[in-house]
Amino acid sequence: MRIEKIFEIRTMRQVYKLMAVVTVFAVLIPVATFALPFFHYGERYLRFFAIASIPATLIPLFITPPIAFIVLNLFRIQTLTIDKVDHYVRYDTLTGVLTRAYLLGKTRDALSAGGAFLMIDADHFKAINDTHGHDIGDEALKRIAEVLRKALTTDALIGRLGGEEFGVFLPGASDTQAVAAAENLCKLMREEGRVIAGKELGLTVSIGCALHRDENTLEKTIKLADSALYHAKHSGRDRYFLAEATDTMPALILKDRMAG
Ligand code: GH3
Ligand code: MG
Ligand code: MG
Repeated sequence: MRIEKIFEIRTMRQVYKLMAVVTVFAVLIPVATFALPFFHYGERYLRFFAIASIPATLIPLFITPPIAFIVLNLFRIQTLTIDKVDHYVRYDTLTGVLTRAYLLGKTRDALSAGGAFLMIDADHFKAINDTHGHDIGDEALKRIAEVLRKALTTDALIGRLGGEEFGVFLPGASDTQAVAAAENLCKLMREEGRVIAGKELGLTVSIGCALHRDENTLEKTIKLADSALYHAKHSGRDRYFLAEATDTMPALILKDRMAG
Protein backbone atom coordinates (compact mmCIF):
# COMPACT_ATOMS: atom_id res chain seq x y z
CA MET A 1 0.00 0.00 0.00
CA ARG A 2 1.30 3.44 -0.91
CA ILE A 3 1.83 5.73 2.09
CA GLU A 4 -0.36 8.51 0.56
CA LYS A 5 -3.32 6.09 0.64
CA ILE A 6 -3.39 6.36 4.45
CA PHE A 7 -4.30 10.04 4.11
CA GLU A 8 -7.02 9.43 1.53
CA ILE A 9 -10.21 10.10 3.44
CA ARG A 10 -13.37 10.77 1.45
CA THR A 11 -16.38 10.24 3.70
CA MET A 12 -17.50 11.41 7.15
CA ARG A 13 -17.92 7.72 8.05
CA GLN A 14 -14.15 7.28 7.57
CA VAL A 15 -13.53 10.42 9.67
CA TYR A 16 -15.59 9.08 12.60
CA LYS A 17 -14.08 5.60 12.36
CA LEU A 18 -10.49 6.91 12.38
CA MET A 19 -11.41 9.40 15.12
CA ALA A 20 -12.46 6.45 17.33
CA VAL A 21 -9.27 4.53 16.52
CA VAL A 22 -7.04 7.53 17.26
CA THR A 23 -8.87 8.19 20.54
CA VAL A 24 -8.47 4.59 21.70
CA PHE A 25 -4.70 4.81 21.05
CA ALA A 26 -4.48 8.24 22.68
CA VAL A 27 -5.99 6.77 25.85
CA LEU A 28 -4.20 3.42 25.82
CA ILE A 29 -0.68 4.76 25.29
CA PRO A 30 -0.44 6.94 28.47
CA VAL A 31 -2.34 4.38 30.57
CA ALA A 32 -0.01 1.60 29.41
CA THR A 33 3.00 3.85 30.08
CA PHE A 34 1.82 4.50 33.62
CA ALA A 35 1.23 0.77 34.06
CA LEU A 36 4.83 -0.20 33.17
CA PRO A 37 6.43 0.52 36.61
CA PHE A 38 3.92 -1.96 38.05
CA PHE A 39 6.15 -4.76 36.79
CA HIS A 40 9.03 -3.37 38.82
CA TYR A 41 7.34 -2.18 42.02
CA GLY A 42 4.47 -4.66 42.12
CA GLU A 43 1.53 -4.12 44.52
CA ARG A 44 3.15 -1.01 46.07
CA TYR A 45 2.67 0.85 42.81
CA LEU A 46 -1.04 -0.01 42.47
CA ARG A 47 -2.31 2.98 44.50
CA PHE A 48 -0.26 5.46 42.51
CA PHE A 49 -1.36 3.85 39.26
CA ALA A 50 -5.05 4.06 40.28
CA ILE A 51 -4.66 7.82 40.85
CA ALA A 52 -2.48 8.47 37.77
CA SER A 53 -4.66 6.53 35.39
CA ILE A 54 -7.64 8.83 35.99
CA PRO A 55 -6.11 11.95 34.32
CA ALA A 56 -4.19 9.68 31.91
CA THR A 57 -7.55 8.43 30.64
CA LEU A 58 -9.68 11.55 30.93
CA ILE A 59 -7.32 14.11 29.37
CA PRO A 60 -6.78 12.29 26.04
CA LEU A 61 -10.42 11.16 26.06
CA PHE A 62 -11.61 14.78 25.95
CA ILE A 63 -8.80 16.38 23.97
CA THR A 64 -8.24 13.80 21.20
CA PRO A 65 -11.68 13.59 19.52
CA PRO A 66 -12.02 17.30 18.60
CA ILE A 67 -8.39 17.54 17.43
CA ALA A 68 -8.67 14.27 15.45
CA PHE A 69 -11.96 15.47 13.97
CA ILE A 70 -10.39 18.72 12.71
CA VAL A 71 -7.23 17.07 11.33
CA LEU A 72 -9.06 14.13 9.69
CA ASN A 73 -11.62 16.49 8.19
CA LEU A 74 -8.77 18.54 6.69
CA PHE A 75 -7.44 15.31 5.13
CA ARG A 76 -10.96 14.60 3.80
CA ILE A 77 -11.24 18.07 2.23
CA GLN A 78 -7.73 17.70 0.77
CA THR A 79 -8.55 14.28 -0.75
CA LEU A 80 -11.79 15.56 -2.29
CA THR A 81 -10.00 18.61 -3.71
CA ILE A 82 -7.26 16.44 -5.23
CA ASP A 83 -9.98 14.17 -6.71
CA LYS A 84 -11.61 17.22 -8.32
CA VAL A 85 -8.34 18.59 -9.72
CA ASP A 86 -7.45 15.11 -10.94
CA HIS A 87 -10.76 14.91 -12.78
CA TYR A 88 -10.17 18.31 -14.45
CA VAL A 89 -6.69 17.22 -15.49
CA ARG A 90 -7.92 13.92 -16.95
CA TYR A 91 -11.31 14.65 -18.46
CA ASP A 92 -12.55 17.30 -20.83
CA THR A 93 -15.35 19.15 -19.04
CA LEU A 94 -17.55 19.56 -22.12
CA THR A 95 -17.36 16.13 -23.74
CA GLY A 96 -16.17 13.85 -20.94
CA VAL A 97 -13.38 12.31 -23.05
CA LEU A 98 -9.72 12.53 -21.99
CA THR A 99 -7.91 15.85 -22.07
CA ARG A 100 -5.11 16.32 -24.57
CA ALA A 101 -2.33 15.98 -21.98
CA TYR A 102 -3.84 12.90 -20.37
CA LEU A 103 -4.55 11.23 -23.72
CA LEU A 104 -0.98 11.76 -24.88
CA GLY A 105 0.38 10.50 -21.54
CA LYS A 106 -1.75 7.34 -21.66
CA THR A 107 -0.87 6.83 -25.33
CA ARG A 108 2.83 7.07 -24.53
CA ASP A 109 2.38 4.39 -21.84
CA ALA A 110 0.65 2.09 -24.35
CA LEU A 111 3.06 2.71 -27.25
CA SER A 112 5.36 -0.28 -26.68
CA ALA A 113 2.67 -2.68 -27.91
CA GLY A 114 2.16 -0.56 -31.04
CA GLY A 115 -1.16 0.68 -32.34
CA ALA A 116 -2.75 3.37 -34.47
CA PHE A 117 -3.34 7.06 -33.84
CA LEU A 118 -6.44 8.65 -35.35
CA MET A 119 -6.90 12.38 -35.65
CA ILE A 120 -10.52 13.34 -36.06
CA ASP A 121 -11.65 16.82 -37.02
CA ALA A 122 -15.24 18.06 -37.40
CA ASP A 123 -16.03 19.30 -40.90
CA HIS A 124 -17.11 22.91 -41.44
CA PHE A 125 -17.58 23.36 -37.72
CA LYS A 126 -17.24 27.12 -37.84
CA ALA A 127 -20.29 27.28 -40.11
CA ILE A 128 -22.31 25.31 -37.51
CA ASN A 129 -21.38 27.82 -34.82
CA ASP A 130 -22.05 30.78 -37.10
CA THR A 131 -25.43 29.47 -38.27
CA HIS A 132 -26.83 27.86 -35.13
CA GLY A 133 -24.85 29.42 -32.29
CA HIS A 134 -22.15 28.26 -29.92
CA ASP A 135 -24.50 26.20 -27.72
CA ILE A 136 -25.55 24.01 -30.63
CA GLY A 137 -21.85 23.78 -31.55
CA ASP A 138 -21.19 22.49 -28.03
CA GLU A 139 -23.96 19.91 -28.43
CA ALA A 140 -22.34 18.82 -31.70
CA LEU A 141 -18.99 18.33 -29.92
CA LYS A 142 -20.73 16.20 -27.30
CA ARG A 143 -22.29 14.13 -30.09
CA ILE A 144 -18.87 13.54 -31.66
CA ALA A 145 -17.58 12.26 -28.30
CA GLU A 146 -20.64 9.98 -27.98
CA VAL A 147 -20.06 8.57 -31.45
CA LEU A 148 -16.39 7.94 -30.66
CA ARG A 149 -17.31 6.05 -27.50
CA LYS A 150 -20.01 4.10 -29.30
CA ALA A 151 -17.99 3.19 -32.37
CA LEU A 152 -14.71 2.22 -30.71
CA THR A 153 -13.69 -0.68 -28.52
CA THR A 154 -13.35 -0.17 -24.77
CA ASP A 155 -9.54 -0.22 -24.85
CA ALA A 156 -9.44 2.75 -27.26
CA LEU A 157 -8.00 5.92 -25.71
CA ILE A 158 -10.27 8.80 -26.71
CA GLY A 159 -9.41 12.43 -26.08
CA ARG A 160 -10.08 15.99 -27.20
CA LEU A 161 -6.94 17.53 -28.67
CA GLY A 162 -8.51 21.00 -28.69
CA GLY A 163 -11.41 22.86 -30.30
CA GLU A 164 -13.27 20.53 -32.66
CA GLU A 165 -10.38 18.11 -32.98
CA PHE A 166 -10.27 14.72 -31.26
CA GLY A 167 -7.52 12.12 -30.96
CA VAL A 168 -7.83 8.37 -30.59
CA PHE A 169 -5.18 5.76 -29.90
CA LEU A 170 -6.06 2.15 -30.67
CA PRO A 171 -3.56 0.05 -28.72
CA GLY A 172 -2.13 -2.86 -30.71
CA ALA A 173 -4.26 -2.08 -33.77
CA SER A 174 -3.08 -3.16 -37.24
CA ASP A 175 -3.58 -1.00 -40.33
CA THR A 176 -6.66 -3.05 -41.29
CA GLN A 177 -8.15 -2.51 -37.84
CA ALA A 178 -7.35 1.21 -37.92
CA VAL A 179 -8.99 1.56 -41.33
CA ALA A 180 -12.05 -0.42 -40.19
CA ALA A 181 -12.36 1.83 -37.13
CA ALA A 182 -12.04 5.01 -39.23
CA GLU A 183 -14.56 3.76 -41.75
CA ASN A 184 -17.01 2.84 -39.02
CA LEU A 185 -16.52 6.23 -37.36
CA CYS A 186 -17.17 8.22 -40.54
CA LYS A 187 -20.31 6.16 -41.20
CA LEU A 188 -21.71 6.41 -37.69
CA MET A 189 -20.92 10.13 -37.52
CA ARG A 190 -22.80 10.69 -40.77
CA GLU A 191 -25.84 8.95 -39.31
CA GLU A 192 -25.72 10.41 -35.80
CA GLY A 193 -24.65 13.86 -36.95
CA ARG A 194 -27.57 14.41 -39.26
CA VAL A 195 -29.80 15.94 -36.56
CA ILE A 196 -28.39 17.36 -33.35
CA ALA A 197 -30.50 19.19 -30.72
CA GLY A 198 -33.38 19.24 -33.21
CA LYS A 199 -31.32 20.99 -35.91
CA GLU A 200 -30.43 19.56 -39.29
CA LEU A 201 -26.66 19.90 -39.01
CA GLY A 202 -25.40 17.14 -41.27
CA LEU A 203 -22.23 16.99 -39.17
CA THR A 204 -19.43 14.84 -40.54
CA VAL A 205 -15.79 14.27 -39.61
CA SER A 206 -12.53 13.83 -41.48
CA ILE A 207 -9.95 11.40 -40.12
CA GLY A 208 -6.21 10.99 -40.46
CA CYS A 209 -4.77 7.64 -39.30
CA ALA A 210 -1.18 6.63 -38.72
CA LEU A 211 0.23 3.36 -37.51
CA HIS A 212 2.83 3.74 -34.79
CA ARG A 213 6.17 2.18 -35.60
CA ASP A 214 8.89 1.48 -33.06
CA GLU A 215 11.41 3.65 -34.85
CA ASN A 216 9.09 6.68 -34.62
CA THR A 217 8.33 8.92 -31.68
CA LEU A 218 4.72 9.59 -30.71
CA GLU A 219 5.14 13.13 -32.05
CA LYS A 220 6.16 11.74 -35.44
CA THR A 221 3.15 9.37 -35.49
CA ILE A 222 0.80 12.25 -34.62
CA LYS A 223 2.40 14.37 -37.33
CA LEU A 224 1.76 11.60 -39.85
CA ALA A 225 -1.87 11.33 -38.70
CA ASP A 226 -2.15 15.12 -39.03
CA SER A 227 -0.81 15.01 -42.61
CA ALA A 228 -3.31 12.27 -43.45
CA LEU A 229 -6.06 14.41 -41.93
CA TYR A 230 -4.93 17.35 -44.04
CA HIS A 231 -5.30 15.19 -47.14
CA ALA A 232 -8.73 13.98 -46.04
CA LYS A 233 -9.82 17.62 -45.66
CA HIS A 234 -8.40 18.75 -48.95
CA SER A 235 -9.82 15.90 -50.95
CA GLY A 236 -13.37 16.66 -49.93
CA ARG A 237 -13.91 15.92 -46.16
CA ASP A 238 -16.16 13.20 -44.64
CA ARG A 239 -13.47 10.60 -45.30
CA TYR A 240 -10.26 9.17 -43.90
CA PHE A 241 -6.71 8.59 -45.03
CA LEU A 242 -4.11 6.21 -43.69
CA ALA A 243 -0.55 7.45 -43.54
CA GLU A 244 2.27 4.97 -43.80
CA ALA A 245 5.90 5.55 -43.05
CA THR A 246 8.35 2.67 -42.88
CA ASP A 247 12.09 2.34 -42.41
CA THR A 248 12.73 1.85 -46.07
CA MET A 249 10.20 4.44 -47.10
CA PRO A 250 10.09 7.19 -44.46
CA ALA A 251 8.16 9.52 -46.72
CA LEU A 252 4.45 9.68 -46.23
CA ILE A 253 2.44 7.32 -48.38
CA LEU A 254 -1.24 7.99 -48.36
CA LYS A 255 -3.80 5.37 -48.99
CA ASP A 256 -6.84 7.02 -50.42
CA ARG A 257 -9.69 5.23 -48.83
CA MET A 258 -12.97 6.98 -49.19
CA ALA A 259 -15.42 6.20 -46.45
CA GLY A 260 -18.21 4.55 -48.35
P1 GH3 B 1 -12.68 22.30 -41.51
O1 GH3 B 1 -13.72 21.46 -42.17
O2 GH3 B 1 -11.61 22.72 -42.47
O3 GH3 B 1 -12.11 21.67 -40.31
O4 GH3 B 1 -13.40 23.66 -41.07
P2 GH3 B 1 -13.83 24.10 -39.64
O5 GH3 B 1 -14.82 25.21 -39.78
O6 GH3 B 1 -14.26 22.93 -38.83
O7 GH3 B 1 -12.44 24.57 -39.01
P3 GH3 B 1 -12.01 25.90 -38.36
O8 GH3 B 1 -10.68 25.61 -37.73
O9 GH3 B 1 -12.09 27.02 -39.33
O10 GH3 B 1 -13.07 26.16 -37.23
C1 GH3 B 1 -13.09 25.49 -36.06
C2 GH3 B 1 -14.18 26.11 -35.22
O11 GH3 B 1 -14.41 25.36 -34.04
C3 GH3 B 1 -13.85 27.50 -34.81
C4 GH3 B 1 -14.18 27.56 -33.34
O12 GH3 B 1 -15.02 28.64 -33.03
C5 GH3 B 1 -14.92 26.26 -33.10
N1 GH3 B 1 -14.73 25.76 -31.75
C6 GH3 B 1 -13.55 25.44 -31.14
N2 GH3 B 1 -13.78 25.03 -29.88
C7 GH3 B 1 -15.12 25.09 -29.67
C8 GH3 B 1 -15.96 24.79 -28.55
O13 GH3 B 1 -15.53 24.37 -27.48
N3 GH3 B 1 -17.31 24.99 -28.71
C9 GH3 B 1 -17.84 25.44 -29.90
N4 GH3 B 1 -19.15 25.60 -29.98
N5 GH3 B 1 -17.06 25.75 -30.96
C10 GH3 B 1 -15.72 25.56 -30.85
MG1 MG C 1 -12.82 21.37 -38.41
MG1 MG D 1 -9.69 21.89 -36.58
